[in-house]
Amino acid sequence: MADPRGFLKVRTREDRPKRPVPVRLMDWAEVQQRQEAGTLHEQAGRCMDCGVPFCHQGCPLGNLIPEWNDLVWRDRWDEASERMHATNNFPEFTGRVCPAPCESSCVLGINQEPVTIKQVEYAIGEKAFDDDLIKPYVPQRLVGKTVAVVGSGPAGLAAAQQLTQAGFTVAVYERDDRIGGLLRYGIPDFKLEKSVLERRLEIMRQEGTKFRPGVEIGTDITWDALRRRYDAVIVATGATRPRELAIPGRELAGIHYAMDFLVRANHLVAEDHVPDPIDARGKHVIVLGGGDTGSDCIGTALRQGAASVTSLAIGRKPPVDRADEEPWPMMPRVFEVSTSHEEGGERTYLASTVEFVGQDGRVTGLRVAETEYREDGSRGPVAGTEKVLPADLILLALGFTGNESRELTEQLPVALDSRDNVARDETYMTAVDGVFSCGDAGRGQSLVVWAIAEGRACAAHVERHLTGQTRLPEPVTPSERAIDLSL
Ligand SMILES: Cc1cc2nc3c(=O)[nH]c(=O)nc-3n(C[C@H](O)[C@H](O)[C@H](O)COP(=O)(O)OP(=O)(O)OC[C@H]3O[C@@H](n4cnc5c(N)ncnc54)[C@H](O)[C@@H]3O)c2cc1C
Ligand code: SF4
Repeated sequence: MADPRGFLKVRTREDRPKRPVPVRLMDWAEVQQRQEAGTLHEQAGRCMDCGVPFCHQGCPLGNLIPEWNDLVWRDRWDEASERMHATNNFPEFTGRVCPAPCESSCVLGINQEPVTIKQVEYAIGEKAFDDDLIKPYVPQRLVGKTVAVVGSGPAGLAAAQQLTQAGFTVAVYERDDRIGGLLRYGIPDFKLEKSVLERRLEIMRQEGTKFRPGVEIGTDITWDALRRRYDAVIVATGATRPRELAIPGRELAGIHYAMDFLVRANHLVAEDHVPDPIDARGKHVIVLGGGDTGSDCIGTALRQGAASVTSLAIGRKPPVDRADEEPWPMMPRVFEVSTSHEEGGERTYLASTVEFVGQDGRVTGLRVAETEYREDGSRGPVAGTEKVLPADLILLALGFTGNESRELTEQLPVALDSRDNVARDETYMTAVDGVFSCGDAGRGQSLVVWAIAEGRACAAHVERHLTGQTRLPEPVTPSERAIDLSL
């Protein structure tokens, strides 16, 4: 156990420090900084090493949280890294972007602030790279079977690493020009700098995983040809089909899906040539949707120099504290203040969109009304409360409606479920023998931690399918549901 009296001596939680807002708005570097060693030691020492560690259940990966809190407290970083990597391929990603459902189920959280689990995870990931503790794990012998992973987000990468380390010959196909999925072109650098991704990809290359960026399966190589070429195929193509807002004026210039904006912004930060940039400089920006995607749009627009940023949500403002119907150890839906929210902009709730207003083919504003909740459970605009908010750029961050799978289902008899995600059984296998699916492609837009957990579990089922047995862990089943954070 970490410090037996730690939670009595250190009653306050201290998060990682953040760079001052005016400074961080001048660049794209990560907002959060490393924590000073003494503070980290104290914070790790608050872990009570509970007899029943509910944090294990809270984390989809089943991370061995009390074990590594103890090891960090004792300064035994090599063992902490070993215990971390026993359940999580990429603590440097989750330590930065995970919303930490584990902390909502931390037992200390019942009557004190929970342990800062995520930042201990971050510290272990960084220290492991600093001290050269992360070595490529090259398998002693090859199994003699090949696996194609389609999609290089966290699900595909986790599956690929598990299978490569288990001796399979693995190629990861990615339609984008670089590997990483939403870690690369969705999540901005101010949350996750791309050098963090690169150093992990380099380890994976040394282990033997082959990366094939710039290849779209279904177009450059057909899905059925890929299936014939490999012993197994994993569909880890994400769920990035954006939700539409079909109100009058949608055709006006200046209205974009959030991902069109964020992908271009990420390319610009990478100093790529972007022929048709979407630039927020000097513009009045409205972001529709209050989840992670909307928050990333706010931080990006502010860094680009927007004149104003307003984010609108149709529903009620969530409560600041845990509601009675979401008791511990559930992850409650509470009012979140992300680092982007701290940086500026206005947040408005109960705003129903009525129409986009424009002039000469360009958007100039958004007509909104107050939202009312009706007795039948539906919600809509209140008559007589309409007003026009000025806007030159409107970003739709209204969530995602499933997999971009047209070619997949045309070229292979793969079925979709009722939410347009790739249907799979409890072994992650789709309707086609030897074709598996994991991550957002199968469960719908979710979280990085769920993508990694599914990638790991899917790899185990692929191994069992191809060799009759597996030594790989299976942290989650496809039917275990994520906490819906309405991205
Ligand atoms: C803007 C934004 C911010 C987010 N922020 C957070 C956050 O802070 N914390 C968090 O936990 N989660 C966050 N999420 C959610 C998280 O990023 C996803 O849940 C996660 O990336 C899913 O991983 P994945 O591997 O299943 O899919 P993805 O990361 O979507 O990767 C799928 C990849 O497949 C590729 N692909 C698709 N079709 C093909 C094809 N036919 N051929 C070849 N390649 C193909 C795509 O180009 C893509 O690179 C965010 C999501 C968005 C959109
Ligand atoms: S991956 Fe997320 S849920 Fe799991 S221990 Fe880390 S922060 Fe907590």
